[in-house]
Amino acid sequence: MIEFSDEEAALLTKYVSNLDKDIYVIYNLPPEVAAVLFAYYSRSPLSFRENLLKLIRDKDIDVPSLTLAHQDQGFDFSRAKEKASKFHEKWVVGYGHSSVAEHASASVAIENISMIATKIIEDNRLASYTEKSSRYQIFDKTRYYTPSRIKNSQYADLYKDTMDFLFNEYNRLIKKVSKCIITKYPKLTEESEQHFKSVLKARTCDVCRYLLPAGTLTNLGMTANARTYEHAIKKFLSHELKEVNLIGKQIKAEVQKIIPTLVKYADNNKYMYETNKGMEEYTSKLSLPADTTKSVTLVKYDESAYDKAVTSILYRYSKSSYSEIDKLMKRMSIKEKENVLDKYLGKMGKYDYPMRELEHIYYTFDILVDFGAFRDIQRHRICTQTTQDLTNELGYSVPQEIIESGFAEDFKCCMKRANEAYEKVLKDFPKEAQYLIPLAYRKRVLITWNLRQLFHFIKLRSSREGHISYRRIAWQCFDEIRRVHPLFAKYLRVDKSQGPAR
Ligand SMILES: Cc1cc2nc3c(=O)[nH]c(=O)nc-3n(C[C@H](O)[C@H](O)[C@H](O)COP(=O)(O)OP(=O)(O)OC[C@H]3O[C@@H](n4cnc5c(N)ncnc54)[C@H](O)[C@@H]3O)c2cc1C
Repeated sequence: MIEFSDEEAALLTKYVSNLDKDIYVIYNLPPEVAAVLFAYYSRSPLSFRENLLKLIRDKDIDVPSLTLAHQDQGFDFSRAKEKASKFHEKWVVGYGHSSVAEHASASVAIENISMIATKIIEDNRLASYTEKSSRYQIFDKTRYYTPSRIKNSQYADLYKDTMDFLFNEYNRLIKKVSKCIITKYPKLTEESEQHFKSVLKARTCDVCRYLLPAGTLTNLGMTANARTYEHAIKKFLSHELKEVNLIGKQIKAEVQKIIPTLVKYADNNKYMYETNKGMEEYTSKLSLPADTTKSVTLVKYDESAYDKAVTSILYRYSKSSYSEIDKLMKRMSIKEKENVLDKYLGKMGKYDYPMRELEHIYYTFDILVDFGAFRDIQRHRICTQTTQDLTNELGYSVPQEIIESGFAEDFKCCMKRANEAYEKVLKDFPKEAQYLIPLAYRKRVLITWNLRQLFHFIKLRSSREGHISYRRIAWQCFDEIRRVHPLFAKYLRVDKSQGPAR
């Protein structure tokens, strides 16, 4: 933990709720300044507090005027706060008028947590997140999470040796792979040195991230309203991982500093904890086989999707009922239906997305993907995701550049070491063993998207700037839609171009 001087501490305490913990609430900053500081998590290894100090030192923040803007300075809010608390106790807590809680929001810096914990936090859809990038930052080898249950067990040395080994290999391969990437993609004459270096670093990190264990420490900024925090904290406090329980406790304590009443009753939930435990026990007895045959399977889709789309579109622009329009639609030829779709979708420009009516069409995909790419895909919130714990049973992906650079054997050796350690720890600590699994290992996620959101996902995640691993998933989702619904696929934007983004 960074030690701040008295002068620094005096400055920082105006904006953050503590100086000695990894979780703290942000206040008194203009919203757009706070957003920029959270964005720094992506590219900068520094904490929110350190980046904020830099901003103040660079005179990018006018400290005196901001200090005056401090909500409690010069004004006495104590009576208003007391009345607000009574109001919330009565209406939100007592009568369940919960939407009121959505007007109180907080931004929390959550630093030095494991990658596993970030995914559990981000599973809460109604919130905004920015996280340290595994593409633009090299992860420090001393920074991984060690669960207390492992630290105090016979596996302590095995865990430490395995994590140290993976980080050493990650750092060693960063240097080696970088040299091979320079040979493959030399600097273009028209390219600036700075651009070349940043592209090289991104490409190298994209390849080497597969070695990072899921226990790697990272930083996350979260902004949400009190209603979301209340639900999220409840889930964190009821989770099987101690790290997540602790994060839940700390978020609750920090958020309460600015939202004292609305998250007060968030507590661990017996129903969630016992149901999860019971279902796991039940499912483990079913002896279900690990299936690694396909990375993208369209498991369910709407057979009458064209009809539903056409009826929904006409519904929007008419004054009639769904059943009356449905009767008309049933008399239409496929050509006429195609014509309706074209009128509705055909004018979309490069940056346009379809309007809401395509939300009535659903697709469920079963996706098998390396944990690294899952971390990216999971960030899509307008969908329903069901995911599974990390495991070694679904194998791992080897990036092409590792093979081309001649490090396939080194890579396999890392996976073997991690796998052996995981197998041993799994016997006594099945949940904590997940921290040992490298990002190369695959996991499953079941996602139900509506067609409108698939336009967004496929366009964004197929783009050449993206990581090849999730680009492949986006391509396959597109191929599946084209297979079952070619009339929709005509309007979907997919970038299947090969070769590196510059
Ligand atoms: C090349 C690339 C690099 C990236 N780098 C980083 C990084 O370094 N760090 C990082 O944390 N993330 C990074 N991301 C993730 C990115 O910021 C998004 O979180 C992610 O792509 C999900 O996209 P989305 O929010 O548009 O999708 P969804 O969550 O699926 O949302 C779909 C759409 O719904 C709307 N929407 C959803 N939620 C909200 C909301 N709360 N408020 C307003 N509108 C909303 C928006 O229109 C959005 O486009 C990167 C993504 C890409 C493609």
